[in-house]
Amino acid sequence: SGKWAPVAAVVKELEGRCATPVGKLRQVADAMTVEMHAGLASEGGSKLKMLISYVDNLPTGDETGLFYALDLGGTNFRVLRVQLGGKEGRVAKQEFEEVSIPPHLMVGGSDELFDFIASALAKFVASEGEDFHLPVGRQRELGFTFSFPVRQISIASGTLIKWTKGFNIDGTVGEDVVAELTRAMERQGLDMRVSALVNDTIGTLAGGRYYDNDVVAAVILGTGTNAAYVERAHAIPKWHGLLPKSGEMVINMEWGNFRSSHLPTTDYDQALDNESLNPGEQIFEKLISGMYLGEILRRVLLRLSKEASFFGDCVPPKLEVPFILRTPVMSAMHHDTSADLKVVGKKLNEVLGIPDTSLKTRKVVIQICDIIAKRGARLAAAGIVGILKKIGRDNAVKDGGRTVIAMDGGLYEHYTIFSECLQCTLKEMLGEEASSSVVVKLASDGSGIGAALLAASHSQYL
Ligand code: ADP
Ligand code: MG
Repeated sequence: SGKWAPVAAVVKELEGRCATPVGKLRQVADAMTVEMHAGLASEGGSKLKMLISYVDNLPTGDETGLFYALDLGGTNFRVLRVQLGGKEGRVAKQEFEEVSIPPHLMVGGSDELFDFIASALAKFVASEGEDFHLPVGRQRELGFTFSFPVRQISIASGTLIKWTKGFNIDGTVGEDVVAELTRAMERQGLDMRVSALVNDTIGTLAGGRYYDNDVVAAVILGTGTNAAYVERAHAIPKWHGLLPKSGEMVINMEWGNFRSSHLPTTDYDQALDNESLNPGEQIFEKLISGMYLGEILRRVLLRLSKEASFFGDCVPPKLEVPFILRTPVMSAMHHDTSADLKVVGKKLNEVLGIPDTSLKTRKVVIQICDIIAKRGARLAAAGIVGILKKIGRDNAVKDGGRTVIAMDGGLYEHYTIFSECLQCTLKEMLGEEASSSVVVKLASDGSGIGAALLAASHSQYL
C-alpha cells in the first residue's frame, strides 16, 4: 500500500548502508591491526592511543591482604573490598556496593564529582566488618578503575586525556586524576592510598588472568567500548623506559576512538556524532556501544515517522527527545518472541507514548533493531580479530593452547542477540579450526577484583 512503500525504502537503505559482509569485516580487522602498529610506534601516531598502562605483571594468585577498589566510568560506580588469601585462600571474602551517579555530577565540577565519590567510599570503609583484616599501623590501599583515556605517568598516576560517554567536566582534562581523588579523600578525612590507577579494560584483564592463565586480552562492551591486551615490550617502539623483566606490557587500546573508511556508517550516525558532546571522536564506540545503539534506533524511527508517517500522521513528540530510547529498551523489544510482539507494543507506548501500534509496525521496529545491533556486534568481532592478528593468535594452533578474551559490560552480558552475533562472527572470520581455540569469557565486574589485585601487587608494603 501507499504507506508501506516509503517505510520499506528507508529500511532497505539502512540495511544496505549497515551491511557488514565478511570481506568488509576483514578490512576493518586489518585496519585495526595497522592502527595498533601505528599507535605503538609513536605518540599521536594513530587515532588509537595504545596507552601504556605500566602494568607489566598480571596477577599470579600470590596476592594477600585487604584491598579496596573503586570503579568510575559509567552510569554507576562501584566500591569494593576484598580479602586476598594467596594461592590457598584466593578471594577469601569480598563485598561491594553500587551507587548511581546523579546526572548533574557528570557534567558539573571536578570537586563535586570527586567529593561525591570519596564520600561514598568513606561510608563504605566505615562499614568494614570483622572478616577483613588490616595489619596494625598500615594504610588502606585502593585500586582506582577510571574508565576514561588517561596518559599514565606511573602505575599510580595519570592525566586525563578527555572525557567520553556523556561525562564532561570542566578543568579536569590534563589533571592527575589520582591527585584529584586523593584530595577528595583527604577532604573526607579518609586515610587511603591509591596504589594503582587502571582502566576498566586493564582491571578486567587482570581479574580475568587471576582466574584463567590463558587470558591475553579484555574487551568492554557496556555504556562505552574499549579493549586491552598483553603486548611484547620490545614491540612498543614509543616506549623509551627500561624493558620490564617480564618482557610484557599491558596496552589500553582506547579502541572506541578507532575510525576507518571501511566502517559502514549512515546519515543517522553522522547526525548523532555531530550533535554529541564529542563530535568527531569515539566513532567506533558510537557504532557499537550501549550508550548509542538505542539512540541510533530512535533516529531511524524519527525519520520513518517524519518521512513515511510510520506512527500515523503526527510525529510522536517524545520521539524527538535525544537518548530517550535506551539500549536496554531496544534489547527488550528485539528479544520479543510473542506472536503479537506485545513487548514491542508496550515499550513503544511506555517509553515513546505511541499507543496501538499494528503488528506490521512492530515487525519493522524489530527489523531495525536487528540491523543496528548486528552491525555493532559484527564490528566488535572484527575489532577482536584485529587484536588476535596483532598478537599472532588468529590462526589455528597445534598445541591445544587457548586464547581467552575476558569480556565485561552490560551490553554483552544482557543483549543476547548481540553477544551471540559477536560469537558467530568470530567463527565466521577465523574459521572453524582457529576459532575453536579462541574463547570469549564473560568476566562480569572482573575489573573491580582486577584493580584490587593490581593494588595488592603494587602495594607500598611489598
Ligand atoms: P558501564 O559500562 O557503565 O560501566 P555496565 O558494564 O554495567 O556499565 O554496562 C551498562 C550498559 O550496558 C548500559 O549503559 C546499557 O547500555 C547496557 N545494557 C544494560 N542492560 C542492558 C540490556 N538489558 N540490554 C542491552 N544493553 C544493556
Ligand atoms: Mg564498567
